[in-house]
Amino acid sequence: MPTASKSSFTQGSDRLLKDTCLNEIGTNKVKQLTVQAPHGPGVSQSHGICAQATLHHGQKNGLDSTQKKSYQSWSASTVHAVATQIQKTKRVFTFGKGRSEGNMSMKSLLGGKGANLAEMASIGLSVPPGLTISTEACQEYQENGKKLPEGLWDEVMEGLQTIEMDMGASLGDPVKPLLLSVRSGAAISMPGMMDTVLNLGLNDDVVDGLAAKSGERFAYDSYRRFLDMFGDVVLGIPHSLFEAELEKIKSEKGISLDTELTASDLKDIVTRYKKVYLDARGEQFPSDPKRQLYLAILAVFNSWDSPRAIKYRSINQIHGLRGTAVNVQCMVFGNMGNTSGTGVLFTRNPSTGEKKLYGEYLINAQGEDVVAGIRTPENIDTLKRFMPEAYNEIVENCEILEKHYKDMMDIEFTIQESRLWMLQCRTGKRTGKGAVKIAVDMVKEGLIDTQTAIKMVEPRHLDQLLHPQFEDPKVYKDKVLATGLPASPGAAVGQIVFHADDAEAWHAQGKTAILVRMDTSPEDVGGMHAAQGILTARGGMTSHAAVVARGWGKCCVSGCSDVRVNDVDKTVVIGEEVLSEGDWLSLNGTTGEVIMGKQQLCPPALSGDLGTFMTWVDERRKLKVMANADTPDDAVTARNNGAEGIGLCRTEHMFFASDERIKAVRQMIMAPTPEKRKEALDLLLPYQRSDFEGIFRAMDGLPVTIRLLDPPLHEFLPEGDINEIVANLSSDTNVSEDEVFSRIEKLSEVNPMLGFRGCRLGISYPELTEMQARAVFEAAIAMSNQGVEVFPEIMVPLVGTPQELKHQVELIRQVAENLFAATGTSLSYKVGTMIEIPRAALVANEIAEHAEFFSFGTNDLTQMTFGYSRDDVGKFLPTYLANGLLQNDPFQVLDQKGVGELIKIAVERGRSARPDLKLGICGEHGGEPSSVAFFAEAGLDYVSCSPFRVPIARLAAAQVAI
Ligand code: PEP
Ligand code: MG
Repeated sequence: MPTASKSSFTQGSDRLLKDTCLNEIGTNKVKQLTVQAPHGPGVSQSHGICAQATLHHGQKNGLDSTQKKSYQSWSASTVHAVATQIQKTKRVFTFGKGRSEGNMSMKSLLGGKGANLAEMASIGLSVPPGLTISTEACQEYQENGKKLPEGLWDEVMEGLQTIEMDMGASLGDPVKPLLLSVRSGAAISMPGMMDTVLNLGLNDDVVDGLAAKSGERFAYDSYRRFLDMFGDVVLGIPHSLFEAELEKIKSEKGISLDTELTASDLKDIVTRYKKVYLDARGEQFPSDPKRQLYLAILAVFNSWDSPRAIKYRSINQIHGLRGTAVNVQCMVFGNMGNTSGTGVLFTRNPSTGEKKLYGEYLINAQGEDVVAGIRTPENIDTLKRFMPEAYNEIVENCEILEKHYKDMMDIEFTIQESRLWMLQCRTGKRTGKGAVKIAVDMVKEGLIDTQTAIKMVEPRHLDQLLHPQFEDPKVYKDKVLATGLPASPGAAVGQIVFHADDAEAWHAQGKTAILVRMDTSPEDVGGMHAAQGILTARGGMTSHAAVVARGWGKCCVSGCSDVRVNDVDKTVVIGEEVLSEGDWLSLNGTTGEVIMGKQQLCPPALSGDLGTFMTWVDERRKLKVMANADTPDDAVTARNNGAEGIGLCRTEHMFFASDERIKAVRQMIMAPTPEKRKEALDLLLPYQRSDFEGIFRAMDGLPVTIRLLDPPLHEFLPEGDINEIVANLSSDTNVSEDEVFSRIEKLSEVNPMLGFRGCRLGISYPELTEMQARAVFEAAIAMSNQGVEVFPEIMVPLVGTPQELKHQVELIRQVAENLFAATGTSLSYKVGTMIEIPRAALVANEIAEHAEFFSFGTNDLTQMTFGYSRDDVGKFLPTYLANGLLQNDPFQVLDQKGVGELIKIAVERGRSARPDLKLGICGEHGGEPSSVAFFAEAGLDYVSCSPFRVPIARLAAAQVAI
């Protein structure tokens, strides 16, 4: 047995590390090694070469004494290079209290669970000894046509020896039996998606040994659980076949609870279960414990590719992982009577962030019972009464872990005959509210600095906080049908569905669904994601539904015992009320209330902890965040959310604000001559001016970027029967029906998005640009005269050539000059353009000669770069995403390779012509975190997004700056 596994690669002196390396080299774990000798002051090249040459031999039995001697001269950097290389080569990493071969930084190789088990063990917490098979081994397995990589089994056997030594027990030994758990664990947590086998190692001989040690009932209970789980998970024998046998015995005996089964009943069940194997597979249950282990490892590797795991990764956009690690660990038992138990807890409340242990446990149960939500667990507080010592150790461990990880942790534990064992820890999933409070509190407690706090809160957390809540809970008090557990906060309103598939189908039809279930299982994730909210009759705060919903920030009420679901008839009784599929229901995930009907929602606000947090965010970021706002009201919301100006005011949206406005627009469109068009525009001018005044006032002291009219004119015409339209337009605009008809015909286009729109309008109808520019400058002068600080910026849309922009800029400047001369005033202002046509990006240097700023219109730029119509992409995009042809919707997440490259070119060429060119982006991507990070790195000055997403963009900008 190599002694190397007793030491750590991450702890101790260089000397210890060297010994570790020497002991590893040449064993099964390290057969081949190539080390690049690190050069530099004090590092002799020959040491590296020597290391490389000898290690290539790959001796089976370690190094001989001459070889060992030759390594005595290794420098510290060579030792580290060799250690790193050995770790890269290793595929099996052992751990146990006080020693580990891995650590928490190795998540991508050991999976989250494996890396954290190693870390917990190495900081001295009681972790059952075990080993982790790396994700790389899983990848090799998948690439190898699902064959275990060569030599891996030998490495597992070596690791197993370490566990056996630690425990003084052996796998398959009837006298000193060792039982194992085999669990999956990818680099990113995928709760319940992959497979687990518990109690592995039992057979007819071993069960007797276990019975002698721990009692017959316990031994046979473990054996029947193992037979069921192993059959189901590893060999694909349906769990229901085992369940049917269990129910048969219970009914024969006239008992209802599993706990009422005697040892001899359990023996009987074991015999029947073994027959289930024979009937289902035509072969005996594999009784050799090593064969069991072998098959269980394959099953966990295979579960990486199960349909539900693939679906989960696709929904959660988890890409680029190598596979799952496999954690093989000595079993500890929470079901050894009333001094045993098992539980899960968070070091703080994950919903509210309150600094108080938050969790549940079950006495005399195995771990899966708590998570499965089958028995309703006890609140963790009560454990203090039943098992004070274990409880105190849990509290102590939570403090150690929070200090060590500098974060809120999610813990799984088992108490076996009063002794505490830590089975898992990871950073806890939390709601937006919880995330912000925990970050702010931890800074106040001196546990972390503000920089760490900023990294702890994810943009999606803010997204949740910025989601609607119920307007006033008092309003619906008499409509509350029942109250369950407040599993995931926020508000949800939708129509009842009973099946996950239906929730997906309804979502696809644009309906909002509330998924109502007895409980949920991993198979339901698609429907849970599609639903607006989730209501379950069973399960605690850590049930599947609760954990998954919280992770997504989706409203969930769980464990509502007043709910009786009949998913065959598609009805549910909630309290006194019988509801059916399609009935409206509202959920308050913060209070657990289930409310009849469609309740009113209201938008949230930035205050309290969130306010404090956002000041830290703003201190860090370099990128400015502006808002896309078209009305004075939007501008006020934007400013409240921290916008530093308006990056895009789409003037066309003002045209729809009233009947008078839209009539004037239609008159302008129908005008047969420029004079008539001017008359109609004169009607529009006061509306535009007053809106601009409101926006300037709301943005006092900040820039306001106003874009000239952009959409194709037919968008302003009414829809419906052509004869009616012509008759109405004719009477509204005083133009003959014939003329109206011919205007409509002229405006009709085969491909309007590439047609008469953008600057093409203002070039064809200069009086339109003149009116809009005049409205902007008149509003600016008026507000400035009232003491408002104004910074108007006029933006020309859809420019493809410098000539187009020059034409419009000259017009705009002429209007300004005339107005300033006439009023004896002067204002500073900017004129710039959107870059949303690929050609504009390529000739950005020529365009920059006429533009003081660029704003990337990434919506159109994406449309024209991909050649995907913005309006029709829904027809094929879902297929592309489902088949992995695209990783993301490029209209939501910036395509960095294509569209991003055009942006980089335009930035570089634009600034080469005009070094002080102001650069921003105002497409939808301005509020999407990964795109914001790209824009910051591409050197833009600002992003502009919807008022609602401004805080998210601020956080993303701060995170990229850190
Ligand atoms: C854009 O194209 O990115 C843009 C902001 O303009 P619009 O969405 O109005 O076309
Ligand atoms: Mg556009």
